[in-house]
Amino acid sequence: MTRYRGYLIDLDGTLFKGEEVVPAGLSFIKELRKRDLSYLYFTNNSTRRPEQVAEKLRGFGYPATPEQVVTSAQATAAHLAEELNSPDVYAVGGEGLKAALVQAGLRLTESRPDAVVIGLDPTFTYDKMKTACLAIRAGARFYGTNGDLVLPTEEGLLPGNGSLCAAVAAATGVRPVFIGKPERPIVEYALDRLGVRPEETLIVGDNLSTDIQAGVKAGIDTLLVFGGVTTAEEYRKGSIRATYTVRNLREWEFI
Ligand SMILES: [Mg+2]
Repeated sequence: MTRYRGYLIDLDGTLFKGEEVVPAGLSFIKELRKRDLSYLYFTNNSTRRPEQVAEKLRGFGYPATPEQVVTSAQATAAHLAEELNSPDVYAVGGEGLKAALVQAGLRLTESRPDAVVIGLDPTFTYDKMKTACLAIRAGARFYGTNGDLVLPTEEGLLPGNGSLCAAVAAATGVRPVFIGKPERPIVEYALDRLGVRPEETLIVGDNLSTDIQAGVKAGIDTLLVFGGVTTAEEYRKGSIRATYTVRNLREWEFI
C-alpha cells in the first residue's frame, strides 16, 4: 500500500540550486513517474509564468509542462478572483504575477483598485511604492504573493518579496495577507489542482520555515530535504517538525 499518492515539490534548493541541477531530484521525479504517482512543482516564485518555470525545469532535465507548475502568483490570482468585489487590482511584480491575475479575470489598474498585490519585483521603485501606499490608504486591500524576507542566491541573500511588502506595510500601517508558503491558501489551491486527498499528499522541500511550516499549518505531511536552505543542525535546534527528513531525495522510500 502506498500511503502518499500525491506530491507537492519545491523547486529551488530541492530540485536545483541556482543554475545547478540536484541529481537526486532527477531520480526522485523519475521514480514518481515510474510509480504513477501524482505530483506538481510547487514554488513561491511569482516572477515567472508557468510556461517559463516548466522550460527552466526541462533545461535541467526534468519532464515538466506548464500544467504541472503551481506558483504563488497563480494561487494569489485564484484567491483574489474569489475574494474581491471588483476585478480591479494594482499589481507590483513580475510577468508571472501580472499574467496570472489577468488569466484569473482580474483587471490591472493604477486608479482606485480594490486590492494592491505585491510580488517580487526586481524593478521596484519609489513610484510603485507610492501608488501602492496611496491605494491602500484609500481603502484597497493589501496582499503579498509570499512573505519570504530574503532570497538565497549565488551573490548572497537578496531582498525577497516579504521585504518589499514590509516597506509598504511600514508606510501604511497595514499588514499584507500572504498567500504563498507557509500560508494555507497556496496549499489549498495546490491540493485542488493536484486532485489528491490531503492525507495522501506529501509536501517536499528544503526550507523549514516555508515548505515544512506550510504542511504544519495545513495539516499535510512533509518531507524535509537537507542540502538546501535548512541544515540538519538548524533543524535539530528548531521547533518546527517535519514528518520525515532525508539527507537527499534518493533516500526516500516512497511509502
Ligand atoms: Mg526551496
